[in-house]
Amino acid sequence: MSARGPVAAGPATASAPLLEARGLTKHFPVRKTRLAPRGAVVHAVDDVSLALPAGSVTAIVGESGSGKSTLAKLLARLIRPTSGQLLLDGGDIPPTSRVRRSYARQVQLVLQDPFSSLNPVHDVRYHLARPLKVHRLAGQGGDLDQSVADLLERVALLPAAQFAAKYPHELSGGQRQRVAIARALAVAPRILLADEPVSMLDVSIRLGVLNLLADLRERDGLAIAYVTHDIASARYLADVIAVMYAGQIVESGPAGSVTDQPAHPYTQLLLSAAPDPDRAQAPALRGRGAPPNLVTPPAGCRFHPRCPHAMRICADTPPAMTQVAAGHASACWLHAPDLDRLQRSPLAPGDPHISGAGERAAPPPPPAPEPGKET
Ligand code: SF4
Repeated sequence: MSARGPVAAGPATASAPLLEARGLTKHFPVRKTRLAPRGAVVHAVDDVSLALPAGSVTAIVGESGSGKSTLAKLLARLIRPTSGQLLLDGGDIPPTSRVRRSYARQVQLVLQDPFSSLNPVHDVRYHLARPLKVHRLAGQGGDLDQSVADLLERVALLPAAQFAAKYPHELSGGQRQRVAIARALAVAPRILLADEPVSMLDVSIRLGVLNLLADLRERDGLAIAYVTHDIASARYLADVIAVMYAGQIVESGPAGSVTDQPAHPYTQLLLSAAPDPDRAQAPALRGRGAPPNLVTPPAGCRFHPRCPHAMRICADTPPAMTQVAAGHASACWLHAPDLDRLQRSPLAPGDPHISGAGERAAPPPPPAPEPGKET
């Protein structure tokens, strides 16, 4: 395994990955400012490897700005990676328009805001019929109506005829998100990338959408990437959790193992912010500061300016992924048994070895427009 190797799958996800990312990296160029010299980039995603097997949910969890949504866009091929590779069914994806079209059909992205992703001047039937027509998956008239009705039934919007005639503003947030998911299902995808699909919904209707995703995994065998800042919902839905911090995966493994025995201090931080009535004792770690400026990310372990366990080595040498349990890995120097005394010496607040601590709250400059976006 490389320093940040593929997310290890637990027993529930033993099948070969449908989609695999190897060393994906995305750096966005930024305009020159007082804080950003010429040639500076936002290190949005750095050397991320991830595997999405059929019939399983992989949660990508992290705070806002951790790079998880950029990673979803890379997986959907909406943006080009700076470096790294995507493999579909274990093979390369040639850059031809025919393959691009086939990829777009097989890998569908569901966005966070169901209202802005639906056109307010068109009814539900239009939204579902359009991809069927574009990809020639249904005929006209009754055949098309039946396909639309089938899609609405799959996402439990019944009676289908009634929902097909509604406009987005006539639906609740949960119903709109179900329409967005039905639209993604219209082209019979094998991989669904759900980017914060419940974060804009009322708490009372989130569970219904999560259960719908769980049904799609079990009934249709979809490989699902569930992108979220909420590790509690990831624990509920996912088979595997990959925790992202500052553009990198810092911990990954079976969902139960990652949430019951979090090995990385950042995962412990996330869990301490997510009350869990089933947990007997809350993790001792509490919130400490904000994510770093990704134009100049901290050297060494990117979490070291916020980490209560930070040691001298953390400030200058990035930790490699280390296996801590079956299928469970974490990138942290706490798992290295052979550090010397100097390397283990603690970093105190204000220690001159701490890198980037003064830049934590500084927002990154706006990204420069990206030439030649891939669609
Ligand atoms: Fe904390 Fe060091 Fe581990 Fe990073 S490598 S999480 S700074 S102990």
